[in-house]
Amino acid sequence: MRKRAAALSLLFCLLLTAGCSRQEEAHSEYLLAMDTVMTLTAYGESGEAGLDAAADIIRDLEGLLSVTDEASAVAELNRTGELEPVDNDLAALLDLALELGERTGGALDITVYPVVKAWGFTGDRYQVPDGEELAELLERVDWSAISWDGQRVELPEGAQVDFGALAKGYAGALSAQTLREAGVTSALLDLGGNIQTVGSKLDGSPWRIGIRDPRDPESGSYLGELELVDQAAVTSGGYQRYFEEDGETYWHIIDPATGYPARSGLISVTVVGDDGALCDGLSTALFVLGREAALDYWRTWGGFEAVLVEEDGTVTVTAGLADAFTLTGEDYTLSVAE
Ligand code: AMP
Ligand code: MG
Repeated sequence: MRKRAAALSLLFCLLLTAGCSRQEEAHSEYLLAMDTVMTLTAYGESGEAGLDAAADIIRDLEGLLSVTDEASAVAELNRTGELEPVDNDLAALLDLALELGERTGGALDITVYPVVKAWGFTGDRYQVPDGEELAELLERVDWSAISWDGQRVELPEGAQVDFGALAKGYAGALSAQTLREAGVTSALLDLGGNIQTVGSKLDGSPWRIGIRDPRDPESGSYLGELELVDQAAVTSGGYQRYFEEDGETYWHIIDPATGYPARSGLISVTVVGDDGALCDGLSTALFVLGREAALDYWRTWGGFEAVLVEEDGTVTVTAGLADAFTLTGEDYTLSVAE
């Protein structure tokens, strides 16, 4: 697989570089990681080496955070209930996850993992769990019961964690940092819908990122377009992983208060900001919170912008995106939140 990806990447480079100067050379790398297909593109002569380093970082992070790879640090934590010492990246993710757990009133809760498993969203054997089983599992869902002092992490009896709500955003942010350090000034990283940009396009104009139409996911059409420079745009959507049973749709974003897929009225949340890991954690949390609480969160904490899409076709963008967002989808109405 890696050989094929390398060959593809070489072909892509050759095609794109015909007639280009070295500063304009496009390099691309494709990898299957974190349960998704990633496409990393960087421009200029440092691009290739930078992308190799970024891909290594993503694979290393997967090796650290995977809940299904028994050799990962997170799998060890889930197996034994404790971990010390804690790798720097895992420490940063724990800090962020617990901070967001607190700020969102538990809408983001990494201890929801046993519930996610019961629904079959890990392993793709989807099922509606029994109500009693859910109630039992919910008793162990509580981010605030995690003991973490910066050195040692300990989980309460029976609890398990999963960083799936933040991992791709964190990986994108670290990859972007690696590319910048390698001297890359223009790159677009697509980590399975988690977008991270470095700088702007080669001609100096902003990157243009499409936001998928969550009411028509099969068509691949977009509901709008965002202009970004040097920022991340992370989308959490009910359409990204779901199953249907008896006419009901169940998706992978769980409300930790109920153990059921979050039904807040939102069907897609895109968070834009400088910190990709924060954007990822927030996209999941704001999806759970719903429009009003999400906007309250934005007004209270700031540091990001968002596009909130509701099932009735209402699209709300926060004030900082008023100029950067263009609505293109039919049957949607746009408002700007102040
Ligand atoms: P994302 O795609 O970033 O919204 O993350 C969704 C993934 O995070 C799911 O596939 C679950 O593994 C996990 N997850 C679902 N609901 C929550 C939640 N409320 N808090 C933390 N993690 C969650
Ligand atoms: Mg997320």
